[in-house]
Amino acid sequence: MVEEKFINEIATLVKKYASQYEINVYSPIIAQACLESAYGTSELARNAQNYFGLKYRKNRCPSAIGIYRKVGSEQNPDRTYTNSYMEWLRFPDMDACVKGYFDFTNTPAYKNLKNVTDPYKYLCNIKADCYATSLNYVDNLMNIIRKWNLTKFDIERDDKMSNSPLVSYTKLSPNHSGQRTHSIDRITPHCVVGQLTAEGIAACFPAGREASCNYGIGKDGKIALIVEEKNCSWCSSSNANDQRAVTIECASDTTHPYAMTDAVYESLINLCTDICRRNGKNTLLWFADKNKTLAYTPKSNEMVLTVHRWFANKACPGDWLYNRLGDVAKRVTNNLQGNTQKPSNTASGALYRVRKSWQDAQSQKGAFSSLANAKKCANENPGYSVFDGNGTAVYPASSSSTPSNSSMLYKVKVTVDALNIRSRAGTNHPIVGCIRDKGIYTIVSEQNGWGKLKSGAGWISLAYTQRV
Ligand SMILES: [Zn+2]
Repeated sequence: MVEEKFINEIATLVKKYASQYEINVYSPIIAQACLESAYGTSELARNAQNYFGLKYRKNRCPSAIGIYRKVGSEQNPDRTYTNSYMEWLRFPDMDACVKGYFDFTNTPAYKNLKNVTDPYKYLCNIKADCYATSLNYVDNLMNIIRKWNLTKFDIERDDKMSNSPLVSYTKLSPNHSGQRTHSIDRITPHCVVGQLTAEGIAACFPAGREASCNYGIGKDGKIALIVEEKNCSWCSSSNANDQRAVTIECASDTTHPYAMTDAVYESLINLCTDICRRNGKNTLLWFADKNKTLAYTPKSNEMVLTVHRWFANKACPGDWLYNRLGDVAKRVTNNLQGNTQKPSNTASGALYRVRKSWQDAQSQKGAFSSLANAKKCANENPGYSVFDGNGTAVYPASSSSTPSNSSMLYKVKVTVDALNIRSRAGTNHPIVGCIRDKGIYTIVSEQNGWGKLKSGAGWISLAYTQRV
C-alpha cells in the first residue's frame, strides 16, 4: 500500500535523527508527515521534498536548498481560513527534509519537545508552540497514530532504550554524558576491585567522582542500575567506547587475578544475554585482540566485547574474567540462539529469580539461567525462593502458604466498550492499542492494579475487567 510504504520510509529517517535532538518519541512526527504531505502526495512534497509543511526561516535548516513559493492557508481562531502566498523550504530529498524538521524544532521555542515519551503530550506541546494553526491539529494526528498503529515504532524504541529487568537495585549516578551518540553494539565488563554488594558498587559514583558505569553486579549476583542504558557512562577511559558500550562493574577480589564469585559470573552472563536481546542482537563476539576488535564493524545482529585494559594502562578486567570472556561470549550467544534447553522451564530464555516473594523485586538476590545455581543461591539465603519466568515459585517445593498471585496466569473478561492497552502499567505510559470486543484475555502478571496481557500487546487496567 502506498501509505504504508510512505510511513515506513519516514519512520526509518525519523528514527535515524530523533535521538541526536533528544527527541524520544517517533509516532507523532511520522503522523505529522502523513498529515502535512498527504502521505507524500501533496504539491509541496512532490515539488519541494517538504513533507512537514516547513515554512522558510532564515538559517534554521541547513539541509534545505532553497525556497518554494505557493499559496498556503492558515486557520484563524474563529475557524475561518486565510489564504496567502507563502515561502516554504525546499529540500533535495526526504532524508534532508526529516533532518530539516529536527533542525526547525531545535530552538528554545520548542524545547518542551525534548525527552517527551507520550505521543499525545508531544503533539499538545508542539501545538502550544504554534507549529500549526489548525484547531483540530492534535486530534487529527492522534487519529492517524491510531489508524496506522504508529506507536509500534515507539515500542521498538522503548524496548531498545530500556534498562534491564534483571535490575533489583537502582541508584542513578549523575556522572554521565547524557544520551549516547552511537547505538549500542559493545559490552565492556570491568572488575570493581573489591567484593562489594550491588549497593556498595552504586555508592562508588557520587557527584564529582568523574566515573560511573551502566550496571554493577554485587558479590551475590545482585544487579544495580547506576547509569541508564540510554546514557553514556564514564567507565572505560574511552569516550568513543563508552558511547557505544554498556559498561558493567563486577565485584571482584582486590588482588591478581581479581577473581569473581560464581554468582557474579552467572549474573554477568544473564545480564549480557538480556542486553543483547533488548538491543536486537543474537550474537556476542570476543576476539581477544584489541586491533581486530576496534577495527571491526559489527553487523546489525552482533554485539562485541571490549575491555578497559585496551584503553588505559590497567589490568581491568583482571585475568580471571579476561580469560573467561570467550566462555561469556559463547554462553550468551547460546542463550540468544536457543541452543541451551533448560529442563522444566517453559518460557524459553526465561530466568530463575531468587526473591523473598515474586512481588518483592527489591529483595532479588540474583537471576540465573541455571536452576541449580538459583537453588544454591536460595539455600544460602534463608527465606528466599526461586521463581520461574512466570513468577511461579519452583523452589523450595511450593507450599500452600505461597501467595496466590505469585503464580500469575488467569483470565479476565473486559467489562467496558473500549479499554486502552498501554506499553507499561499505568496511565502515564503510551497507549499502544485498544480492546473493543469485551472479550476474555489471559493475564500473566500484575502490577499496581494493572495486568500484563499474555499476547505481549501490553498492559490493561484490571479495574475494568472481571476475573473469570
Ligand atoms: Zn575498568
